[in-house]
Amino acid sequence: MQPSSYGRRDILRIGSLLGTSAFLAGTSRAQEKSSEVNGIIFMVSDGMSPGVLSIAQNFSKIVRNRGTAWWDLIGNPASVQGLMETSSANSLVTDSSAASSAWGGGVKINNNSVNVRPDGSESEPIMRSLKKLGLRTGLVSTASITHATPAGFASVTENRDHEHLIAPQYLDTVDILLGGGLKFFDPKQRVDSRDALTPFQKKSYELVRDRNSLLKSKSERILGLFSNGHIPYEIDRLNDRSLQRTVPTLSEMSKAAVRNMLFSNQKFLLQIEGGRIDHGAHANDIAGLIWDQLAFDQALETVLEMTAGRDDILIIVTTDHGNGNPGLNGTGKHYANTSEAFRNITKMSASHERIFQKWRSAPSKDPESMANLIEVNLGFKLSPDEAEALTAAFRNPAGKKAARLATKGEKDTTGIVEQSFTEWSNQLRNPQGLLGQIAGNHTGIGWTGTSHTSDPAILTALGPQSQRFQGTMENQEIHRHLMELLS
Ligand SMILES: [Zn+2]
Repeated sequence: MQPSSYGRRDILRIGSLLGTSAFLAGTSRAQEKSSEVNGIIFMVSDGMSPGVLSIAQNFSKIVRNRGTAWWDLIGNPASVQGLMETSSANSLVTDSSAASSAWGGGVKINNNSVNVRPDGSESEPIMRSLKKLGLRTGLVSTASITHATPAGFASVTENRDHEHLIAPQYLDTVDILLGGGLKFFDPKQRVDSRDALTPFQKKSYELVRDRNSLLKSKSERILGLFSNGHIPYEIDRLNDRSLQRTVPTLSEMSKAAVRNMLFSNQKFLLQIEGGRIDHGAHANDIAGLIWDQLAFDQALETVLEMTAGRDDILIIVTTDHGNGNPGLNGTGKHYANTSEAFRNITKMSASHERIFQKWRSAPSKDPESMANLIEVNLGFKLSPDEAEALTAAFRNPAGKKAARLATKGEKDTTGIVEQSFTEWSNQLRNPQGLLGQIAGNHTGIGWTGTSHTSDPAILTALGPQSQRFQGTMENQEIHRHLMELLS
């Protein structure tokens, strides 16, 4: 590490105080001085469509009285911006496993695979390569820690859904593991009944199961599993005191991981994923999505603060693909009602996942109970026709499957729901899409569908060698840069 004339915190401050040209001259000098990279923090807002940036910025100003850290970072001349093309080997639209494998394995592969190429050969995941070189590694996610995005950096499997096969592969490859997904380690819940917890403990990983234990932990290696499946949506955590006590925020998990990496004084690669922005988009759930995006932004703020005095840490903030492409449509004459409609999102207090779970366990699964749940949790009244259409969407086999997937926080891949309500879009012809459209009448938010999209992924980089990520790039190019910078 080379001394710099000023640290990252100063860069952030000075950037906002000085004019761009004067500041750029100072920045280029700083970059010449400190080009060595001793750590990379790779942050992923999974399934974040470009429009989410402005939606989150405007929402943050309403509920937090300030903008977002990512927006500020983009506006800071010390950072560079890129647009990433995200297709996979077999589709213009990637899934998370092919996208993460492009970053983690260096080649485009088919959707659903993790570091297995179309010809059946395997790519070595980057954390395995870096471990051989003696680096430290960490994965943090609000999804299960064996989900596709963390998996692409540290495992190989033909089918991303085989999360029980991914879990054991992290042993000795990843030092810090923080997220959900206990059921893929626990012998009582694994499909093969094998114990995937004890091997970690034997290799001196501390097994951490709740927020307080994480905040106290000073262990060199941690396996932190805070939920059986995915960690609950941030909007549900914020409205549940017991979850707040027991489940750490993404920011708290990130803080623990970054502290561990910086303390080690070894080179490191740390991936931090806001995993449920994607799930909110699949569910056309704007409040679920937006609160998780703010939780991700809080984690970014934490990372920026913790690395403020360091000129040898590269921070990359990006997404793996768009999803549902939410956008705020102007409403009312001359769009005069737009801001008021947008504010209605602040009245929402539960994720669609939670609402559908409650409805499914209600004694009478009828339009009235659906309308009550929507009014209490989303703050608007369904018309009788809307309530009937929404419950009808659950009555047929495809709708039931979609509801089951929604309650598990998984995506509906059925595509088509054969049933009675009128809906011309195959993408929106399911309970999630229908509720998203109805809610949009009150919030102004529209969706293109309930699946991933091909939109470019926004990438922001800050720190030494960040200029490598300026301009347009294909997602697999990231891998070469990460390897060159860390090996
Ligand atoms: Zn997805």
